Amino acid sequence: MPAPVLDPQQQRVVEHRSGPLLVLGGPGTGKTTVLVELVAARVRAGLDPGHVLLLASSPRSAAALRDRLAQRIGGVLREPPARTPHSYAFGLLRRQAVRAGLPTPRLLSGAEQQLVITDLLAGDPTRWPVEVRPALRTRAFANQLRDLLLRAVERGVDPADLAELGRRYDRPLWVAAAAFAHEYAGVTALAHPGAYDPAELVRAAVDLLREQAAVLAAEQSLRRLVVVDEYSEADPALVDLLRLLAGGGRDLVVSGDPDTSVFGFRGAEPALLARFPTDFPRADGSAAPGVLLTVNHRLGPQLLDVAARVSARLGGAGPQRRMSSAVPAGNGGPGTAVRVLASSTDEVTQVAAHLRRRHLLAGVPWSQMAVLVRAAGDLAPMRRGLARHGVPVAQRAEEVALAQQAPVRALLDLLAVLVGRDAPTPERVDDLLCGPYGGLDPVRLAAVRRSLLEEERRAGGTRRADELVVAAVLGDGAVPPRARAVLGLRAVLAAGSSAAGVGSVEDVLWALWEAAGVAPGWREAALAGGEDGTAADRDLDAVLALFDAAGQFTDRLPGAGPAAFLDHVRAQQVPAAAGSAPGRDPQAVTVLTVHAAKDREWDTVAVCRVLEESWPDLRRRDTLLGIVDLLELRSTGRVAGPAEQVSALLAAERRLFYVAVTRARRDLLVTAVDDGEVRPSRLLEDLCPADRPEPSVGLPDRVLSLPRLVGELRAAVCDPAASEADRAEAARLLAVLARERVPGAHPDQWYGLPAVSDPRPLSERGQPLTLSPSQVEKYLRCPLRWMLQRAGGDTGGAVRAAIGSLVHDLAFEAAAQSLSAEEVWASYERRWADLDTGQGWLARRERRRVDAMVQRLLGWLADETRDLVGAEVDMRVQVGDVVVAGRVDRLERGPDGSLVVVDFKTGASTPTRAEVAEHPQLGVYQWALGAGGAEPVVGPDVVPGGGRLVHLGLRRGERAKEQDQPALGQADDPQWPRALVEQVRAGASRPAFAALVGSWCGGCPVRTSCPAQPEGGRVTS
Ligand code: SF4
Repeated sequence: MPAPVLDPQQQRVVEHRSGPLLVLGGPGTGKTTVLVELVAARVRAGLDPGHVLLLASSPRSAAALRDRLAQRIGGVLREPPARTPHSYAFGLLRRQAVRAGLPTPRLLSGAEQQLVITDLLAGDPTRWPVEVRPALRTRAFANQLRDLLLRAVERGVDPADLAELGRRYDRPLWVAAAAFAHEYAGVTALAHPGAYDPAELVRAAVDLLREQAAVLAAEQSLRRLVVVDEYSEADPALVDLLRLLAGGGRDLVVSGDPDTSVFGFRGAEPALLARFPTDFPRADGSAAPGVLLTVNHRLGPQLLDVAARVSARLGGAGPQRRMSSAVPAGNGGPGTAVRVLASSTDEVTQVAAHLRRRHLLAGVPWSQMAVLVRAAGDLAPMRRGLARHGVPVAQRAEEVALAQQAPVRALLDLLAVLVGRDAPTPERVDDLLCGPYGGLDPVRLAAVRRSLLEEERRAGGTRRADELVVAAVLGDGAVPPRARAVLGLRAVLAAGSSAAGVGSVEDVLWALWEAAGVAPGWREAALAGGEDGTAADRDLDAVLALFDAAGQFTDRLPGAGPAAFLDHVRAQQVPAAAGSAPGRDPQAVTVLTVHAAKDREWDTVAVCRVLEESWPDLRRRDTLLGIVDLLELRSTGRVAGPAEQVSALLAAERRLFYVAVTRARRDLLVTAVDDGEVRPSRLLEDLCPADRPEPSVGLPDRVLSLPRLVGELRAAVCDPAASEADRAEAARLLAVLARERVPGAHPDQWYGLPAVSDPRPLSERGQPLTLSPSQVEKYLRCPLRWMLQRAGGDTGGAVRAAIGSLVHDLAFEAAAQSLSAEEVWASYERRWADLDTGQGWLARRERRRVDAMVQRLLGWLADETRDLVGAEVDMRVQVGDVVVAGRVDRLERGPDGSLVVVDFKTGASTPTRAEVAEHPQLGVYQWALGAGGAEPVVGPDVVPGGGRLVHLGLRRGERAKEQDQPALGQADDPQWPRALVEQVRAGASRPAFAALVGSWCGGCPVRTSCPAQPEGGRVTS
């Protein structure tokens, strides 16, 4: 790796020969670079790399430093020269334990700490103030208590100090927590000898160095040069460690920028940077010198101007804020843009449009772009939105807490049901069935529910669909063939249950995973690549991470069962591996939080969701136990008032914004939304120069993506208002794209343009065709609708159809079994429960509508005087190659002995009198009756005596409405219904079907495929 060109200030750092040195510089001034060069220069001058200790603020930064150093020094290093303070402290403690012949120390996991705290809290509650006793057994209290203990340890506050502070400042909770801390320390020392709390590591190393002079001397002689990057994220424990290792005027070089300190919530104190010269004086007692880096090597003049405007609001003097740019003006980037959009959707579109332009027009690689958000919750929607617009997005599973990753969450949900942590409620079982290991989707689940219900009713049972699904999944009984899809989940749970009896949590998870059988499919998808492949890859990684976590958990806590592991993983709010070394760097855009973006940089950066409601986040971070107050007391000696705390929070949020806007090398886009509910953040004002108007709400730019381009070109080609020249140019460009096989560019792939795939008729003459009387009616209304619905084009309406069947069934039951009104109502109640219409207002309205229908049916039945011949009577007649088959709701005998066809209607509309006279369905039933279609029921030689429609679904009125069709014998041509059947037969034998527009089009389920309708026109035009 070639040596970077250093500016004079940087050169001064590299040439620093001995003693303490503070390197102060803003973002992009090359602080990290100069530290690496300093170490490289010392090594070249003869210093053994093993005598260098380079401390970084996070494992990811340490890994990046190691890489850079290795490239500059070359050769093989004995031990990692760059580490986090925790890693260094742990190594020191381990080496010392080995030397002393003690067991190798290990880190206490969060789960172990949580278990001990929860157990102790379950003990004597009387030591705690009365007001918090009800909360002692809650997870939130245990978390807060653990947090308080960690922060106290970091600040060197032992239990005695905490109790004293509690008494002095009238904080009885601190006094109680101090007693608890004492007990906790004793228990962990006994139960986990050699185990350290992570927060305790640096303090433990400090104690070791203080207590054992020989160890201290050895470390001091070994660590000839100590270098600390990002000292602005230091905490008091690190300062104590450095004092011992490199105090007294030894070689100690630190760098930092107090304006970019953003890890206050982890204990960082930016003020420590300013105190460095006096905390670490030279050997002669004078203050440590400093070098101020003022030349910015990342930000061009325009981006530097933005940085200056934001930093001007940070308060304090900040000499590091006065920077000049070494980057040429322009630098190939458009600089800064601030955009306010009308909705979150528009915001994502704008970001996607910007990134695609930068990639396509300026050649910025995807890997050199990042999208930053304030809150982790915004990551997933942003990633999804960008991917939708054709922006490749790096999916870093490790940035999401393990339990929140979909395939892991689903496995944990299975485990939770298995170990009894979650009750198997119907909703939960539905979720499991439709999750990644259940194998169903909502449509198939609905079919399963119906099938289980039918079987239950057939067997005379009364259980609801919800209960049946739960029983089918958790039980071991037979299920009907159409509900067999639930058996997959049943097998998964059974496998997990067998393993739970004998194995560890790892075994149980493995049994669940194996039984689910999804691995081969995911592997295949991952190997196939593309968007689905990336998702499958990520899912497999997440599951592997879960197995890793389970393995470690089992190793550390052999006695803890699956339930404890479940609590442990579900309690993790942050990614376990956050901040670890970067993994693969795919050709994709990085989407991450601003905290995770610290000390990184890209060519193009978009900072999004800069909303007043969430950034600045001014919610007080303090807790029931007063952790923030404790930190304040330790660092300033006093507790800040509410106003001061808000002011401190605002300053921290501004620093975070400063970090965000200083990550870009070439161009920066900042976006916000103004939709009436959320507003752009006040932080945006810092970006905008006073002499320019504030950004107003605007439309997103056009996304330069192939699908979008193809769509626009196709629209231009087909636009009759466009000029011939434009249409020809659009056609030419489409031809170019089609040659490159861009999907949708070739007219062969356009709707409606391909030639008819099969010119043969739907049903050729001679082939049997079965028609019901109602289908005859449907064909005559609109042949196209009839054909499309017959070919499967019916969508939705399942509940409506089921309600229609319910009313018809009730009518049949009432007639066939001579039920009383009460019995009909009881049957209705049972059937309604089975319909599973939900609980919302829509369901309640539908229920009222059907109540009215049943009421009308009962009224009509009570008033009906004609004799009932039969209900649900099958009718079947063959005419040539047509079979007319249907089922008549009722057949009644009139006073003259003739038979009348009765049909119940549950729709709201009624035909006119003239239409009833020619009603095809009634007519065809009458004709079929006369032709012997119901002979098994009514005998031969029947004379049809007319038809009757009974309307039950009217919008108003308490009584059913009847409409009569005269007997066929009274018509001029008594065979007119047969002529209709032949007309349908002839139509079905043709290859084309006409769209007949009429009042019935409003509710047509195939409108979107109908060329006579605007929404369907695109199919053929
Ligand atoms: S919208 Fe009207 S014309 Fe078109 S298919 Fe449906 S019923 Fe026929």
